[in-house]
Amino acid sequence: MTDCIFCKIVAGEIPSKKVYEDDEVLAFHDINPAAPVHFMIIPKRHVKSLEACDTSHQDVLGKILLLAPKLAREQGLSDGFKTVINTGVGGGQLVMHLHVHVLGGGKLQHV
Ligand code: 5GP
Ligand code: ZN
Repeated sequence: MTDCIFCKIVAGEIPSKKVYEDDEVLAFHDINPAAPVHFMIIPKRHVKSLEACDTSHQDVLGKILLLAPKLAREQGLSDGFKTVINTGVGGGQLVMHLHVHVLGGGKLQHV
């Protein structure tokens, strides 16, 4: 996906403040944080949204969810965090590459 911002971040064409990286996933801080700690975990392989996922994404989705508490802890969120997945236009998704937001460290809007 040559016109996808997050694919460009994965490729290193757009710089990001990395939190974690392995062969399948990348985590990086949000450029416009909505909380004192706000990062995103994404699959490196482009997929538009949760809606576009199928069973071939099962493992990476599980990996991302299990990474969330580990990375949140490493980022100092010892008393909890919020995870958000916006899906599609109706779900307020702006960047059409699946991402899980992890936020915390301050008062968060409920749900
Ligand atoms: P969405 O609304 O699609 O769930 O969230 C997209 C998020 O990506 C927004 O919170 C926005 O601040 C973030 N974002 C957009 N462009 C960039 C970028 O180039 N770099 C980083 N680090 N975050 C970005
Ligand atoms: Zn992409």
